Amino acid sequence: MTTRSVVVKVGTTSVTDDTGGVAYGVLVSIALDVVDVREQGWNVVVVTSGAITAGWAEVGRGRPRPTDSVRLQAVSAVGQPLLMHAWRNAFAEVDTAVGQVLLAPLDFSHRGQYLHARGTLEALANLGVVPIVNENDAVADEEIRFGDNDRLAALVANLVGASHLVLLTDTDGLLTADPRLDPTATLIEEVTAFDADVLEAAGASRSGVGSGGMASKLAAARMASWSGITTVIAPARAHHALPHALAGTAGFGTTFLPRPERLSARKSWIAFAVASRGTLRINEGALQALEHHGRSLLRVGVHSISGTFGEGEAVDIVGPEGQTVAKGLVRVSSEAFNDGDEVVAVHRDDLVLLRKL
Ligand code: GLU
Repeated sequence: MTTRSVVVKVGTTSVTDDTGGVAYGVLVSIALDVVDVREQGWNVVVVTSGAITAGWAEVGRGRPRPTDSVRLQAVSAVGQPLLMHAWRNAFAEVDTAVGQVLLAPLDFSHRGQYLHARGTLEALANLGVVPIVNENDAVADEEIRFGDNDRLAALVANLVGASHLVLLTDTDGLLTADPRLDPTATLIEEVTAFDADVLEAAGASRSGVGSGGMASKLAAARMASWSGITTVIAPARAHHALPHALAGTAGFGTTFLPRPERLSARKSWIAFAVASRGTLRINEGALQALEHHGRSLLRVGVHSISGTFGEGEAVDIVGPEGQTVAKGLVRVSSEAFNDGDEVVAVHRDDLVLLRKL
């Protein structure tokens, strides 16, 4: 039996109840489903939200939830152990151990750290332990926090080489319109391209306490699709949601098909995980060389630079009209950019063409 991996993300509105406390019954049913699909040969990583909401239920005493990030991040530190405790108990009911892995954007940006996180997740799987991942909200720098776990889940799916990403939420999937405003709204069962209709449908969707909403789910699905991963957005409270999502049960959830050409793990890391430190604006000739001839970006093709970046850091590459055309790891620091002898600014092995994705 070949092992395939799935990352299943459960949103705040699904893991918490009306009082903000952890919805233990939902966690138990997810644990049952995880065990079920593990028996079918799936390796499963859970990404959970709900720390902030559960934390505020503990310390807020009915007061309105804070809106400033400093207090929200502090509150996550209260809720995270409550959330983990509930996951631990839910999985204990099915005789399965869990491990907590908290990740912040910087863990994805540093390649060494990224590979290290992958090693830990692999080792947990080998031990038969289900990793329960959340963003490290308490310490992550507000400026660069993910803020929503949809993107985090897509990055984790990419990290573990998953074939599927399942986003369990409080809707049936991606609908043609907001059902509270339009009773004729219907489920979009399959998405093959991220076109205007799909973006419009996502814009119409709203969600309560979770921070993501449909737009961030779509961004996650898009990222996953470029990494060759199938995404399913499905209702968390449905019976056996995870097995149905993996089986592709007709009429259940919205499935986003992966693109046929999968980016290599390293290129998807460059495209999605690592944060850009600056911008290289290139001329028309360089743009042609990149997009039509598969060349590296030479320093002479760079018209101007902005930002402060070191050698090996990521930069956005912008065309003459200001459009972002690529992302890559630069060979020359911003400081030395105008006076070094290095000919190549970004080698094509370190470059991802974003318009071709
Ligand atoms: N990391 C946040 C939490 O656990 C959730 C972010 C989200 O809503 O996706 O509270």
